[in-house]
Amino acid sequence: MSVLMPTYARIDIAFEKGEGPYLFTGEGRRYLDFAAGIAVNALGHAHPKLVAALKSQAERLWHVSNLYQIPEQQRLAERLVANCFADTVFFCNSGAEAVECGIKLCRAYHNVNGNPERHRVITAEGAFHGRTLATLAAGRQEKHLAGFAPMVEGFDQVPFGDADAMAAAVGPETAAILVEPVQGESGIKPVPAGYLARLRQIADASGILLFFDEVQCGLGRTGKLFAHQWEGVAPDVMALAKALGGGFPIGACLASETAAAGMQPGSHGSTFGGNPLAVAVGNAVLNVILEEGFLESVARHAGGLRQRLEGLVDRHPEVVEEVRGEGLMLGLKVKPTNLDVVTALREAGLLTVPAGENVVRLLPPLNIESAQIDEAVGIIEQVCAELTESGD
Ligand SMILES: *Cc1c(COP(=O)(O)O)cnc(C)c1O
Repeated sequence: MSVLMPTYARIDIAFEKGEGPYLFTGEGRRYLDFAAGIAVNALGHAHPKLVAALKSQAERLWHVSNLYQIPEQQRLAERLVANCFADTVFFCNSGAEAVECGIKLCRAYHNVNGNPERHRVITAEGAFHGRTLATLAAGRQEKHLAGFAPMVEGFDQVPFGDADAMAAAVGPETAAILVEPVQGESGIKPVPAGYLARLRQIADASGILLFFDEVQCGLGRTGKLFAHQWEGVAPDVMALAKALGGGFPIGACLASETAAAGMQPGSHGSTFGGNPLAVAVGNAVLNVILEEGFLESVARHAGGLRQRLEGLVDRHPEVVEEVRGEGLMLGLKVKPTNLDVVTALREAGLLTVPAGENVVRLLPPLNIESAQIDEAVGIIEQVCAELTESGD
């Protein structure tokens, strides 16, 4: 058996270094990286400011434990809070942990408010919230749950984008509604316009919490700092991870003061969460993403890329059926098997990620430039032409 537990069907490529939007193998082959570690390398590879922050922190202090003050962690929390609905942040190491913290926080909120029966969380079909036992139960995907019964109790699910179904599913034991403003893993699906506002009304009317999982769509990916800000609808709780460390593992659960009422010293913890290395890089990531004009430039490049991709749908309808997504979180719904398209693109030098509903995910670094967008579109065009020929 492989010494690495065989939980991934890995592609036979090992990269040796990265530079901006490019990855290089030991043999010197160059790839344009529109996978970005699955929306993690938001500023590309080896960004000089991130490298400098990590190096300088590494020479001073790596880890101290959350038993002590960590000023850079405090600063990262203050900056996140200053830029969204939240009042308070818990740092952890991954997306699943950020969602887990949020689930616990929702249960604790109702418990401290005298409604301990309110423990259930309602999610949307197609959801992906992580691979821990509770986040698997939240996502409720057969393929992820198979073999791991019994499923953690306390999760319900309704059809994607259906606010009426959500309203109908809220009962006396409901604690919270948990959704991704743009579903990632299940195929780059933005929720319908007006949906988040309806969820806000439903949550307010029933005294439950609204929890957004922005692990993939947050931190500038859609052209606003947080995807829900497009709709102007604030949640009570939000999970972040992927892009927050630009490749250094860090996650965060953000909440309003009201929602976090049940969290006390001792109610949650993480040995590594928000350690000095992680928060030094997190602050460096925010330095770039919060720079004047950065998000506008993401939105501008996203518009350009999207328009070019729509052109592909017109020219190669037998390969690309539809372009979907928001900002630089884009999906191509393809006609051949998405894995075949991802493979063909990779062989032509462009890295992408498969997603549900036969979608090819395009998740370029947020600081992508027009020249690389041209290069990517050129590769996709060429691969579409090849696939059309081979399909005839
Ligand atoms: C990736 C992802 C997660 C899980 O993050 P991990 O860091 O792999 O635990 C949770 N929610 C969403 C929306 C994600 O895309």
